[in-house]
Amino acid sequence: MKIRSFLIKYGEIGIKGSNRHVFEEALVRQIRNALAPLEGGYKVLRRNGRIYAESTDPCGEEEAVDALKHVFGITRICPVVRVPDRGFEALEEDICAYLADTFESMDFTFKVESRRARKDFPVDSQTMNREIGAYVLSRFPGLSVDVHKPDVLLRVEVREDGINLYSREIEGPGGMPLGTAGKAMLLLSGGIDSPVAGYMVSKRGVFIDAVYFHAPPYTSDRAKEKVVKLARIISRYTGPVRLHVVRFTDIQLAIYEKCPHDELTVIMRRYMMRIAEAIALKEECLCLVTGESIGQVASQTMHAMVCTNEVCTLPVYRPLIAFDKQEIVNLSEKIGAYETSIEPYEDCCTIFVARHPVTKPKAEQIRRSEQCLEDVIGPLYEAALASDEVILCRAE
Ligand code: ATP
Ligand code: MG
Repeated sequence: MKIRSFLIKYGEIGIKGSNRHVFEEALVRQIRNALAPLEGGYKVLRRNGRIYAESTDPCGEEEAVDALKHVFGITRICPVVRVPDRGFEALEEDICAYLADTFESMDFTFKVESRRARKDFPVDSQTMNREIGAYVLSRFPGLSVDVHKPDVLLRVEVREDGINLYSREIEGPGGMPLGTAGKAMLLLSGGIDSPVAGYMVSKRGVFIDAVYFHAPPYTSDRAKEKVVKLARIISRYTGPVRLHVVRFTDIQLAIYEKCPHDELTVIMRRYMMRIAEAIALKEECLCLVTGESIGQVASQTMHAMVCTNEVCTLPVYRPLIAFDKQEIVNLSEKIGAYETSIEPYEDCCTIFVARHPVTKPKAEQIRRSEQCLEDVIGPLYEAALASDEVILCRAE
């Protein structure tokens, strides 16, 4: 019986020395999670320092590949057919059947690359390459051999428990497996940038919680639903996201009423950071993450970021800091968030925005301006924290 499996290759975790098994176990766990909802009853196992996902049901390959493309840590996904060892001649037949099954038109160049993990196999790998090549050529006249730049690299691996045949390598997302790095609190708005920022940090193995500042009635339920949708989209990569929705209206109104208008955005951003940090600490997150990029808007100048940073004790990671907008858009499209991000709902930052915001705010001046809030901010801050509504967002 042929077994349809995926050989799953991984990159950086291979170099983690004595911790290697921790990373491999995390990767196996995430692969199991990703394949669990699919038909085919995949079994995920580590064998001889490799990871396989195996099924005896040959259908549903596309869904499985799609699921695996969302698992951080995977660099390559190789659909593999395993045949039993029934001698060299039977192997040649199996290889021809495999090629006819795998490729629609038989007119490409190829090269055979054989390996023997079991040295008692009667034919050495050089001879295997030569003989299999010749046999395949005799069976498929449209094929030719190219040892330098073949269209198809046909791998034949003789292992303890059978012979693996594979020739396709599909790119995985790379990165590190989820659950190997702790948790981050993402400031998630409905825009293009922050979902991409969350994806990027999560790619390093980090779980993501998120906080969204909602300003009803100035921002609508539709705007909130859009953020939930974005959290669901990134959760295909990041795993389930606990989204904290915080009611920010009263703080925004107070800032609007009492502070200089050209400093509104910076002050508002500082309150967002303070609240996000309080929730992050409660949730045992190790950092904050934003979608900021130098100079993109007035509140993202280096000067403005000095002012927003100073209210936090946790590190603030800004993975897009040196990205151009187009580079961010490309990533947003790649992760499937773009279409949702450009839906036109209002954002709380755009409602109370000054016509001429300061681009080079000074922290000292901003601190002085914040003193105007002294009488009212305490209860408003507490009320905002108390309004925290948690929505668990997972891929549908
Ligand atoms: P995005 O596309 O992520 O909304 P942006 O280009 O619109 O970013 P800003 O509105 O200046 O930029 O926001 C900068 C960052 O601040 C965002 O990337 C996000 O991390 C955070 N942020 C802004 N608004 C909110 C909000 N309403 N709730 C949570 N985080 C927010
Ligand atoms: Mg925004």
